Amino acid sequence: MNYVQLEKLGEGTYATVYKGRSRTTNEIVALKEIHLDAEEGTPSTAIREISLMKELKHINIVRLYDVIHTETKLVLIFEFCDRDLKKYMDTHGDRGALDSVTVRSFMYQLLRGTAFCHENRVLHRDLKPQNLLINRKGELKLGDFGLARAFGVPVNTFSNEVVTLWYRAPDVLLGSRTYSTSIDVWSCGCIFAEMISGVPIFRGRDNHDQLLHIMRIIGTPDERLLRKIASEAAPSGDGQAAAAKQFPRYPKIPFQQILPKASPQAIDLLERLLQFDPAKRISAADALKHPYFTSSAMVYPVPPTGTMAPPTYFPTPLQHPHQQHAAQQHDAQAAHAHAQAQAHAAYIAQQQGYNAAAQQPVYPMQGQPQPQQAQSQFVTYHGSGQAPAR
Ligand code: ADP
Ligand code: MG
Repeated sequence: MNYVQLEKLGEGTYATVYKGRSRTTNEIVALKEIHLDAEEGTPSTAIREISLMKELKHINIVRLYDVIHTETKLVLIFEFCDRDLKKYMDTHGDRGALDSVTVRSFMYQLLRGTAFCHENRVLHRDLKPQNLLINRKGELKLGDFGLARAFGVPVNTFSNEVVTLWYRAPDVLLGSRTYSTSIDVWSCGCIFAEMISGVPIFRGRDNHDQLLHIMRIIGTPDERLLRKIASEAAPSGDGQAAAAKQFPRYPKIPFQQILPKASPQAIDLLERLLQFDPAKRISAADALKHPYFTSSAMVYPVPPTGTMAPPTYFPTPLQHPHQQHAAQQHDAQAAHAHAQAQAHAAYIAQQQGYNAAAQQPVYPMQGQPQPQQAQSQFVTYHGSGQAPAR
């Protein structure tokens, strides 16, 4: 192999991920090794990942460089990122919670990567902090498309067990199989709340308990909605349909009470992401246009002259979070004002970029390839377990 295997970075369901270095270019990469069962050959999850990842080229999606296929293993060579969002929150957060500027930047990038997937008819289906990668520049990238698949035609054949429990949408928990892009949007909402508070918002032990955790916060929806969702459930959802009647009637708790640090705009966006009814959930593309990202109505404290960093591109972190945390330790209030001012300056820069590029988001890095827009030829695979013909 043309890569030197270095330390282990992580381990998941099907694979072990190592840091690696190219023998020819010295470039640092991530090597995702999928061990092949001698009898079963290449697992369909791996084939899915490869076929999707090769096409999905976007700054907020981890780039797949190469694939090495031997008799005993399959190695995917990915661009290297320093850590996943879970580790980032553990190390940089204040007991897991991130500062408001970083939350906004990561949230924007998460939604942008998700919107790009959806434009290309790809569901991620397993968005969670461990599957989001953060590099040194503060760029957030969607990774681990092991469970993703194109959702072109057969909407009713998805298995029921897809999104990790805590990030799983209530309609999926109720047995619905007709879900679509809205399931990723729910996960984005859960991740948003977790970045703000430092702890996962809904931590259920099992399917039913997860629904109870959700309802205790967002309130039990009316029975009509529960029945509607349950009626869309495939046979495995029949039990849930009966159970739909049995949920306690919990009132809604305002998100502001649970996340006192969040701004009103953050709360409003969260509200739209975490809609119980999948039909009412905002789309990732619309979420990007939400005032939380675009409004200048936010009142920012004006920093004293000379403390404001030069405007930079939004939405990459406006200052490296390490620096920001150091500042906050010395003077939390000044740092907050500073950060807010930066966000505002960056917002202006972003708006100018937006207008100039006529709705094209600003891409922050010089020489970085622009993400490709929706590719109509993309959907070649509908998850039947067969490798796409390519
Ligand atoms: P699995 O399908 O087994 O969950 P993942 O792709 O999620 O595999 O990788 C497992 C872990 O390895 C991730 O949670 C992350 O910590 C680490 N990892 C994965 N890809 C990269 C990468 N490109 N750069 C750095 N770390 C990575
Ligand atoms: Mg993973």
